[in-house]
Amino acid sequence: MKKITFLLSFLIVSTFSFSQEKETEVKEKEGGHYNISKFRQLKQELATPNVYRTASGAPGHEYYQQKVDYKMDIILDDVNQKLYGVETIKYHNNSPDVLKYLWVQLDQNIRAADARTNDVKAGGTSSYYSPKKFTNTFLRKPFDGGFNIDYVKDLSNNDISHTINGTMMRIDLAAPLKSGESTSFKIKWWYNIPNYVEIGGRSGFEHFKKDGNNNYIIAQFFPRLAVYNDVEGWQNLQFLGTGEFALEFGDYEVNITTPADHILDGTGLIVNRKEMLTKKQWKRFVQAKTSFDKPVIIVTQEEAEENEKEFSKETKTWKLKAKNVRDFAFATSRKYILDAQAVKIGDNTVMAISLYPKEGNPLWEEYSTRVVASTLKSYSKQMFDYPYHKAISVHAKQQGMEYPMICFNFGRPKEDGTYSERVRNGMIGVIIHEVGHNWFPMIVNSDERQWGWMDEGLNTFAQLLAEQDFEKGFPSRGYPKNVVRYMGGNQKRIAPIMTQHDNVFSSGPNAYSKPAAGLYMLREVILGHDLFDMAFKTFAERWKFKHPTPADFFRTMEDASGTDLDWFFRGWFYTTDFTDIGIKEVKKYVVTDKPTKKFKDRLEQFGADINDYLPALFLVNTDSDEYTDDMAQVKNPATDITSLNEYLADNFSPEERKSLKNTKYFYEITFEKPGGLVMPIIVDYIYTDGTKESKYYPAEIWRFNDKEIKKVFASDKELKEINIDPKQLTADIDTSNNTWPKKKEESEFDKFKKKNVTE
Ligand SMILES: [Zn+2]
Repeated sequence: MKKITFLLSFLIVSTFSFSQEKETEVKEKEGGHYNISKFRQLKQELATPNVYRTASGAPGHEYYQQKVDYKMDIILDDVNQKLYGVETIKYHNNSPDVLKYLWVQLDQNIRAADARTNDVKAGGTSSYYSPKKFTNTFLRKPFDGGFNIDYVKDLSNNDISHTINGTMMRIDLAAPLKSGESTSFKIKWWYNIPNYVEIGGRSGFEHFKKDGNNNYIIAQFFPRLAVYNDVEGWQNLQFLGTGEFALEFGDYEVNITTPADHILDGTGLIVNRKEMLTKKQWKRFVQAKTSFDKPVIIVTQEEAEENEKEFSKETKTWKLKAKNVRDFAFATSRKYILDAQAVKIGDNTVMAISLYPKEGNPLWEEYSTRVVASTLKSYSKQMFDYPYHKAISVHAKQQGMEYPMICFNFGRPKEDGTYSERVRNGMIGVIIHEVGHNWFPMIVNSDERQWGWMDEGLNTFAQLLAEQDFEKGFPSRGYPKNVVRYMGGNQKRIAPIMTQHDNVFSSGPNAYSKPAAGLYMLREVILGHDLFDMAFKTFAERWKFKHPTPADFFRTMEDASGTDLDWFFRGWFYTTDFTDIGIKEVKKYVVTDKPTKKFKDRLEQFGADINDYLPALFLVNTDSDEYTDDMAQVKNPATDITSLNEYLADNFSPEERKSLKNTKYFYEITFEKPGGLVMPIIVDYIYTDGTKESKYYPAEIWRFNDKEIKKVFASDKELKEINIDPKQLTADIDTSNNTWPKKKEESEFDKFKKKNVTE
């Protein structure tokens, strides 16, 4: 066997070296030698490991993060749709650095009449305008939004100097804040709440004309500290609308005053929930705490419809407390129906809660809370146990937005209560997604302003598994086949995943489906479930309640799986290359013990003697000239070597023979790779006897030739068909070269003929 392998490789290497020579020639013409291997390590792309972030991807021994605590009094003016707030912020400097100023995010300023967001948008006229778009583009007076900052004061009521720069505000500290110290200050503010249905945005209110009520979904509603860390210094990139948020963890005490007939829920424990509900409702709420199999309706539709009519002049104050959260949001309305059920997560009982107006029914009563409960279980299994005491899903038109413990979700039936499959699935999908965001980025607290994919992509992947847990076959968007059209599209309009979120062309595929599909491929194709699941869990465990970067993710996935994935991360995250792998050629060989003419000629060139190489076996391609030449002397290979085993018995050792089967067919398959990405080759070999053999060639098969590679194998069966990536797991953008023999495309004429016969 050793000799066979030697000779085979001799022949094969000689053909290979020809194509490689050609490639070297090209490289040299392009300008000398440089390392362009797609398997080179990511060292230059990733930050050098240090005491804060290790080479393994775990937090380092001097890892730190700041802590920011908020005490707030908030008043909602429902009549004029204004929100007022006074907040006391306590900032803990856990960094080793001295800070002379602090940066605070003023996200509402994106709604200011002079907001930069409008000015950085470029674009020409459209040929089509809906009435709303036409009004918004040409006729509407700019909305008078944005924060009105009444004051910034220290706790002794001295003014603190501050400077507003768009959506950021710098607070100049009276004395530098040393490492390990903390400082407190107060901000008083108010703003006009935008009707987000009319002018867009992530929060605001929806107005219901029929009953005159509003549904308030309130977020980014208070000046919030920006992140200061070892990676960015101050993360003070402007809020332009796409790039979301970077926030510190902290504790919150928030009092929210609403009209007395409102139902509210938000981040944190409602300390006085009992006082806020009627006796009957409180009893139902207590019931819900032990209802593990189905939701209990706490505020009924009937009660909600009564509340809708009240327009109470009285107010009440909801008291909320949250520990170790990175943000705070709430929803409030007269219109809310409220239901809840209990979910067992580890040793804890978590409440799954939904708030929705009657307009959401019957869909919301049927699904929302059940979907929340199922999501909590799936995500806890995938990552780590949900650590908070509740998770709320709020019905909000056109929204899909996440905050700690609470999220806003779309999905509204028609007025007659009917809904399509698409509306139902859209609603289930968005609830799973937004509840899932509790893990990424609410707890595994990545920098969303910088990297949209770190929360959206990781979450869209986890969402896929949770959706399949909820309902097998659910139309999830994170599958590789779903990004084929995007990745094969106009390369000038695609950005690599590793692009700051405001600078990507299309956020949907860029931050959501492409990274999710990449993770799905890592799990299904490259690592397998065991290695992937353990590594993914390790990343989540290592970085829960911390601030991870992409490098921490890439490094942990390799560190925990024991697999070099640099080639995958480089291709999938740092480039816009796509997968396209195909079959270029299939050659069939027969075996003979007579030296072929080609081999003899080659030996002659080197002045070698053929007898030094005998006995040996030679493969002759049945379609080549060589075959006709050589077969003149080897008329019938099958009778010439009546049985390969017999021949081997005479010429090879017992050990060499032992490993042989009765081989009849020899194949050389040439795989081509027009696509830029390196990827494993997943192949189904189908034989004439109907059997199938599935093979997996790891991506490293492309190490020495990025364009085409050959595979040779012996078989006792005849090949009938070869299929590459039959389950569509690698996002191959052109499948016309994925089969051998090539599947005949129906001609347009054939289609035309068929159509006219059948119709
Ligand atoms: Zn999301």
